[in-house]
This record gives sequence, C-alpha cells and structure tokens, in this order.
Amino acid sequence: MAASRRSTDPNPNVPEYEYQDVNTKPFHIGSFRAEWLKRLKPSDYSYQVEDEDTFDAKFAQELGVNAETMMELKSICNVDSLRCHADEETTDPEIVPSDSTLQTLIQRKERQDLKGSKKFFKNRHDLYADELERQTIGKCPESEEDRIPEGEVILTINVFYPDVIEKFNFTRPHVTLLMTGSHTLAELRDAICCVSDLQVCGEFSNNPDAAPAFISKDHFKSAFFYFEGVFYNDMRFPECVDISRTTIEWAESHNFPPFSQAKMEDTRFVDLKVKVGFPYLYCHQGDCEHLVIITDIRLVHKSDCLDRKLYPLLTHKHRFSTQKCSACHLFIGRWVTTGDRFAPSDPCLFCDKCFRMLHYDAEGKKLGEFQAFPFVDRGAFN
Ligand SMILES: [Zn+2]
Ligand SMILES: [Zn+2]
Repeated sequence: MAASRRSTDPNPNVPEYEYQDVNTKPFHIGSFRAEWLKRLKPSDYSYQVEDEDTFDAKFAQELGVNAETMMELKSICNVDSLRCHADEETTDPEIVPSDSTLQTLIQRKERQDLKGSKKFFKNRHDLYADELERQTIGKCPESEEDRIPEGEVILTINVFYPDVIEKFNFTRPHVTLLMTGSHTLAELRDAICCVSDLQVCGEFSNNPDAAPAFISKDHFKSAFFYFEGVFYNDMRFPECVDISRTTIEWAESHNFPPFSQAKMEDTRFVDLKVKVGFPYLYCHQGDCEHLVIITDIRLVHKSDCLDRKLYPLLTHKHRFSTQKCSACHLFIGRWVTTGDRFAPSDPCLFCDKCFRMLHYDAEGKKLGEFQAFPFVDRGAFN
C-alpha cells in the first residue's frame, strides 16, 4: 500500500490517510492500479526472474560500488564462508555446541533443551495453518490461462465474526482472504463461510432424515455488501430480494444522505471505491452482520500464489473448539433435544449416532416424547 501522499497532490486516485495509521480516504481501486502501472516500468512488476548478472549490476549501482567491490562483497557474504569447522569435517546440524557465544545458537540451544524436557506438540489448528500456507505459497498454475496476469491487483480482505457472537467481538478476523481486482463481490460472498447459512430451522423429531434438506442458505439467498454509500445486493437467484431497501427508505425518510444500489455479481473490486482500513458491512440471513475490512491493496508479485484457481485465497481462519455429544463425548453435536426424558440435561446435545440409537427403534420409530432440532457446530468447518 502506498504511503500517504503530500496533501498538495491533487490526484484523488493516490490514497491518502483520513486518520493517520487507521484508514485512508476513499479511492477508486481500478484507477489506483492504473496509477501504479503508469509509474512503474513493466519489468518492475513482471514475473520474469532477472538473471544474476543483471541483478548484481543493479545492486552495485544501488549501493554505489563498482563491479570489483561487488564481487568481493559477494564472496565475503557468501553463506559457504560461514563455517566453524574445517572444510572436510562433516557435522550434525542438530548438535548445538553448548559453549557458543553466538546469540542465535544460544537461543536455539535453549529451545532444543525446552523441547527435550517437555512433550511439545503443535496443536491441530497450527498444523492446519501450516498446511494451508504450504498448499498455496509461491504456487504456479498448471496451465497458462490460470495464471494471474502481471499487474493485477491483490486485495487483503478481513471478514469478522457476526456481531451477535459477543465473545469474539475483540478477536482477530474470522477469515482473511486474498482476492484479485477482477473478482466480483458475489465471489467474496461465496467464499465467506458463516454458520448461519447452514442453520436448519425446524423441529424434526418425527422425521430426522428430512432435516438436511432445509439449510438456510438455500431458502434465504438475499445478502448485501455495503461500501461507501452503495448497497451491493446479491440478485443472482429469482428468490433474491433487495434487503437493503428498508434501510435506504428509512434513511430517506430521516433526511440522511441518499444511498444507492448495485448488484454484487456485476461489481468487480477494480470498480469499487473504498477506504483501506475502514470497516464495511456484509449482511446475510436477514440480520447476520459481519464487518469487512480491506487492509491492503497492492500489485501482484512473482512470489505470490499465481494460480487463479486457488483464489479467493484463504490465508487465515480463526478456529473454534467444537461442542461434543453429551452421551459419547467423542463426536461433534448434531442434534439438540428438549423435553427429552432420555437426556441428562434440557436442552441436550447429541451426535447423530447417539441421537438415533437412543431415540428411535430399529425400524426408525420415534420412542417417547421429545423435540429435536438440528444443530450446526461453528467448529464443524474448522
Ligand atoms: Zn453470518
Ligand atoms: Zn455421541
């Protein structure tokens, strides 16, 4: 992200801070990209790797030294010269000398000793985060048409938990996604996984097999994003209704500045005008409201994941611990029952297996009186 510009510069496409270190003034993403491309040489944002000689020549020029000094520096700073043993001696890199004066080695030794004294496991969540990174970092596409074009913009988008989950109001973002300027807002919507889309409404004790067919996302498809005075509605399906209308009409009747509307499926990020660092809104399922903050907009770099198919690229996901079945304490809860004489508590959480075993006979006939509601665990999509 470009640093703040001089206030005398009249160009509105170059971002300037509105509040120092918090957010910028609004700017048009496509024009911002055009400004970069106008100022840079194509070689600056090209994926082409420079050959070593050209790189060295430029580096020497940057340092203000001649070619001879450059060669000398290269040989002195070469990692091969960093040895504490004779050339022919082979050493085990895992053995850290205990009398070292080098800070890096002292710290490494301390960490090694700590690891040896404790059972030191990475938890599942960290392992998953590492795996996520390994899958995407510096990834190149298999076919040329899936390669993200040079000079494309990459946005870092943070989506927060809905306001209703008070516990997480002060945590880091729920998900962080990287998206390109040519992605539409509808693609962002599809990449946001929220438990309220998967909620199943209703009581299903008489026919538990019917429950999975009723997820909220299929019934209530309307949603909007709000950026800079514009509501971007999802209108991809015939069932979609414009849920921003109520707010717009309310604002009109209360003499607020007017809002406008557009379709999220027709709006690409490069068409948007936004403030970087400013909280915007994503609303779905009527009142499930998430803050959306764009924290960075930049040109794509050759070290980025260049496979278009892997975008929107998930780079961070906050994880929940799951709620387990109160009978087996092993599997994730799938059903909540009430008025249930088989249950140790009211309401009570069961996994699918325990729920069916306890509440139905071999023919699937309901035993006794109780009410059963499908339960979707937030941790289920960790
Ligand atoms: Zn939500
Ligand atoms: Zn169970």
